Amino acid sequence: MAESIHKLPGDGLRINHYPMAARGFFRKYRTLTQWLLVATFFLLPFVKINGLPAVLINLPDRRFTFFGLSFWSHDTPMLFFVLAGFSLGLLFITSVWGRVWCGWACPQTIGIDGIFRRIETLVEGNYIARKKLQAAPFDKEKIIKKATKWFLFFLISMLVSHTFYAYFTGAGSLASMTLSSPSENLTTFYIVNATTLIILFNFGWFKEQLCTVICPYGRLQSVLMDEDSLVVAYDENRGEPRKDRKRSSEENGDCIDCYKCVVVCPTGIDIRNGIQMECIACTSCIDACDDVMRITKRPEGLIRYESENGLKGEKTIFWKIKTYIYLGLTLLSFLGLFLYVLNRSELDITALRAQDDPYQILSTSEDKTLIANHFTLNLRNQSSQEMEVDIIRTGEMEGSEIEIIVPTLPEIIPPGESIKNHIFIKFSKSVLGKKSSRHFKLQIMTKSESVTTQYIKEISLVGPI
Ligand code: SF4
Ligand code: SF4
Repeated sequence: MAESIHKLPGDGLRINHYPMAARGFFRKYRTLTQWLLVATFFLLPFVKINGLPAVLINLPDRRFTFFGLSFWSHDTPMLFFVLAGFSLGLLFITSVWGRVWCGWACPQTIGIDGIFRRIETLVEGNYIARKKLQAAPFDKEKIIKKATKWFLFFLISMLVSHTFYAYFTGAGSLASMTLSSPSENLTTFYIVNATTLIILFNFGWFKEQLCTVICPYGRLQSVLMDEDSLVVAYDENRGEPRKDRKRSSEENGDCIDCYKCVVVCPTGIDIRNGIQMECIACTSCIDACDDVMRITKRPEGLIRYESENGLKGEKTIFWKIKTYIYLGLTLLSFLGLFLYVLNRSELDITALRAQDDPYQILSTSEDKTLIANHFTLNLRNQSSQEMEVDIIRTGEMEGSEIEIIVPTLPEIIPPGESIKNHIFIKFSKSVLGKKSSRHFKLQIMTKSESVTTQYIKEISLVGPI
């Protein structure tokens, strides 16, 4: 048989597929997971932590808020840890549990299985009724049902696209934009409507074709998985030969060839033909077959989560060098992210020696030589509040007073903004002792919402030997 994607026989036409709803152990927990993830998606833009949205990706202001913390465009290096952590985490999960992401957490599966197919079933009925309706001529009943279904699809697509946009604008601004005239926010209006149409097309019509034709992850799985990775698999040793009335029941395997596992499959494949790229590991065939096994009084698990080695009766080894490397690198990436966030100061301070002479001698007398050093000080407010910033003007070293002259401070820095100052540090040469340089701790004070914080920046004072 020529190799082709199931339900896309190669003539450019698609074979419509109407999967039966499966019921059982995995279905129950998949539904719970789906509701949890759907609720998280819809609620997250409305949840506030420390007065900030739980998640806000404000691209025009280059400000990103995650769970009470604000990040700015200059925090981009942090993205390395985020991307590395999630990519390596996915490698680790795939190498051990196969396509568990596809079946349990992928937005495409959740959208089709958890939302759109439920609406379709509500309006058009179960898989048999849906198939019959599709084949029926366009009479009044069909028109009403199809129109109702697509209207509800449109409403849910609008809701999803608006919620999605709220992640970029904040729930409050989206609400006020939605209530005002479209002409006042034309760009937003076009973006949200285009997103609505894409969602409607994808979940309403394109459906499982995204998994079987477009998604690169499905194609990558053969590289990431091996004979010890868990997959949804049919136990051929137990199932074959399939039921044949001409054979005695002892000669038959456990598979009664009822096709229930095929009828429930959202991508329309027959898992008994072996592991296939179109399998999204949704577990529906496990539930369907377990149901049959219970009825025929055979042990459950003819189709189950199993590794290729497990199917051959060999030991499955999950923990191997590859797995440890993936897990180690994932943990390292998240540790890097954690340390980055932990060490990230709300005030970013850069002190550079100004581009003139390294020092100036201001005055020389018998007992005292006065020196000045000139620095440029960059202060960036990395918090989400306005910040008043000032410098402690005096210091003491080796019994000599150090004077700090800052013509432009104190100043208020808005969130995410930075200011540049010139500072002059006046000190006696005795401060340096017999050396030509010495470290000095500059004390910078910030006041934000009446909370005062002190920061220390170490700089190097220089003078003649
Ligand atoms: S559901 Fe089970 S018994 Fe029925 S055809 Fe599939 S594998 Fe065989
Ligand atoms: S073969 Fe089974 S697990 Fe794979 S997509 Fe079909 S029903 Fe889901």
